[in-house]
Amino acid sequence: MDKINCNVVSCSHNKKQVCYANCVDIVGPSAQKHSDTSCSSFLDKSHYSRLTNNVLSEGSCDCLQCSVESCTYNSNHLCTLESIQVSGGENVDYYTHTACSSFKLEG
Ligand code: SF4
Ligand code: SF4
Repeated sequence: MDKINCNVVSCSHNKKQVCYANCVDIVGPSAQKHSDTSCSSFLDKSHYSRLTNNVLSEGSCDCLQCSVESCTYNSNHLCTLESIQVSGGENVDYYTHTACSSFKLEG
């Protein structure tokens, strides 16, 4: 199973809706809803072209860090889910337009 499914196809790390970054950081420390979160590892493909063939790791991203402490699934800045969905759509050009759709408010 791929760890990060992502529909932000304008990101350099995206290949067929799967993330291939070496490591991803999800941010949004006091998020109350999923749109308060974002993927800070987003890179605009129109500036950076495609980076999915990185040399440090084979295959899709398996390193997921997250500073969203208000999420049920956050434990010591790591995500405890096996797989998450990152969303943003086709025309994202800045990282704040992305979100972790798997976010669930703690409590
Ligand atoms: S937006 Fe984030 S999760 Fe999606 S492909 Fe880019 S780096 Fe990976
Ligand atoms: S599900 Fe929660 S803990 Fe996991 S990456 Fe998304 S916001 Fe962070």
